[in-house]
Parts: sequence; C-alpha cells; structure tokens
Amino acid sequence: MRKWQEKWADSGGRKGAWTKALIPEISKWVNRRHGELTYGLAQILTGHGKFQSYLQKIGRTPTDKCVYCSINEADDVIHTLYKCEAFQGIRRSLVISEGQNGLQALKNKVSEMLESAEKWEETVREIDSIMRHKTHLERQNIASDAANGAGNEVPDE
Ligand SMILES: [Zn+2]
Repeated sequence: MRKWQEKWADSGGRKGAWTKALIPEISKWVNRRHGELTYGLAQILTGHGKFQSYLQKIGRTPTDKCVYCSINEADDVIHTLYKCEAFQGIRRSLVISEGQNGLQALKNKVSEMLESAEKWEETVREIDSIMRHKTHLERQNIASDAANGAGNEVPDE
C-alpha cells in the first residue's frame, strides 16, 4: 500500500499531476468500498478526454478554445464542469460557492465522493450526463461540418 502511495506521489513528472491534485491520497481511492469508475469520471480525473485543451495538446484540433459556448476561454475539465454555457441546464450539484474557484470546488467534490457512496452516485451521474452531452454536441458539430463541406478547412488565425 505504501508503495502505491509513493508511486502515486512521484509518478512521472507532469503526467498525472492533474489526477494527483484531485486525489492527493491514493489510499483513499484504492481503499474506498463504493463507486464504479465510469468513462465520464475517468476523463475528469485524468484530464484526458473531450476537452479542447487536451485535444490540442495531442494534435487533434488547432485551438484550445471551447467551441460550444461564447465564453471564449480554454476548454478544460474546469470549464466543462463549472463554466461552459452548453451544460448550464445539466449542472445541479456541481455548484461553486462564493469565493471558491473551480479547481477547489472539484477537489472538494472528489473528496466528498470518496467519503460517501451517495455523493459518489450523485456526482458521477451529473459528470456522466455532462460528458455524454458533450459527445452528443461533438457529433452534431462533425455532422454539420461535413454537411457544409468545411471538413478540410484551415481556420484563419
Ligand atoms: Zn464552453
């Protein structure tokens, strides 16, 4: 167990830094007695998924800006869960209290989830519906790009 914690704590430089920020103590994760890891939750915990900032990093898209709302900022985990206008209707329990930033709110959420099976279910349901909706929007975008013949267009900078 201690080895796991050590590995978690110093595993590969920047890789996994996001996950470590959210789950500083891997033992709490490993020893929990509830909670399935879903695809949506995995994307949130690793930062690897349907986020423009990640897709740009791996060369899949030219821009890190969110393409689903008008806020015009980088689309990452925090943007998706707490800010993106596209998911306003879906957000319920993922509220940010005054003076709290998104990262702190998410850290608190994850820590609550690890303590309580109820919180886990509630939060994962919400995260999954947001991420599923994002997949849906992405498919719509691809479909309309294809319909407009804009698939191969290079965006001007
Ligand atoms: Zn957005």
